[in-house]
Amino acid sequence: MIIVKLRECKICLNNTLNPTISIGRNGLCRLCELYKNNFDGKLLKKELEFLKTFIGDSKNKKYDVMVGISGGKDSTAILYTVLKIGFTPLAFTFDLGYYPQHIFSRAAQVARKLGIDYVRIDIKKYIQKHDLVSYQKTAELYSKKITPSLKREFLRNYVQGKKYYSIKSKKSHAFVRVCILCRHTVVPSYYREAARRGIKLIVLGINEWTGLSQDKKSNRFIFSGIRKIKLFSDKPPLYIVHLPFLLQRRISDVNEILKTLGWKKPRGERLIETNANSCLLARASESKADKLLGFHPDSTRLSREVTVGFITKQQARKALAKVHNYRYSVRQVLQRAEIIK
Ligand SMILES: [Zn+2]
Repeated sequence: MIIVKLRECKICLNNTLNPTISIGRNGLCRLCELYKNNFDGKLLKKELEFLKTFIGDSKNKKYDVMVGISGGKDSTAILYTVLKIGFTPLAFTFDLGYYPQHIFSRAAQVARKLGIDYVRIDIKKYIQKHDLVSYQKTAELYSKKITPSLKREFLRNYVQGKKYYSIKSKKSHAFVRVCILCRHTVVPSYYREAARRGIKLIVLGINEWTGLSQDKKSNRFIFSGIRKIKLFSDKPPLYIVHLPFLLQRRISDVNEILKTLGWKKPRGERLIETNANSCLLARASESKADKLLGFHPDSTRLSREVTVGFITKQQARKALAKVHNYRYSVRQVLQRAEIIK
């Protein structure tokens, strides 16, 4: 019998139970290794200067930026920061039919408190046909009975799903990690909704880089806080900003801002959370995915927050340990959202 020792990255929570993770001789996963050797704070300063050039963007009369909020701590702090920088934001929350209702009222309340206009935007109309099939396939996969062969299928499917991460992928696939599915509609919707309003900037409270690319000349890897996307040739590009990363924010900074605002943590809410806290689809899939994969489906996401130094490894571990036992299945959540029949 061969015993393979489980190895965990020295910095983040990535470990070798996840078949897409490898740990190098120095004890670091590939991303932590890349980050350690390539991260450049000077580049982020330049990006921040670029961001500021959009203040008062003249093409649009009312708003110069759209800020995505859920009313949770990160988005609340970011909305406040965007105002402080000098922008005139329009706050918004996308609705796919499977986010908990309290998110919308909470988000609206945060915006009101800061005197910012807020819209809830239904983006179900933007779901593409091949993604609708993916939703159906995902519901089928999650309806299967737990067996050793399903465990293998989940792992295979997880690895395969990563290849279809890009919003350009037209492949219909059953996604073990449902957040990829969501992303396929959410990112193009940023583009459409911003373009419709003549806005070129979307700011999000996401605590990790928005782009990782390789410079052709120097071969160095570039961790960016701003990513440019252009989906249609007849429309201008859109810039998506992960402001906490751009500002190299720490969770202590967020707590400081929340204190200034007198923000009260909603009952039962934690400061560091997995996606299952703000998405019912993630919640319905969480425990089965965690059990069958052998690792939490959000472990790579929270690990990146550790890699960039936003939270500690212990904080991330604690958040991942809380797995919901949701009473509705993936199929039921999607049926209630009227995405599948
Ligand atoms: Zn790592």
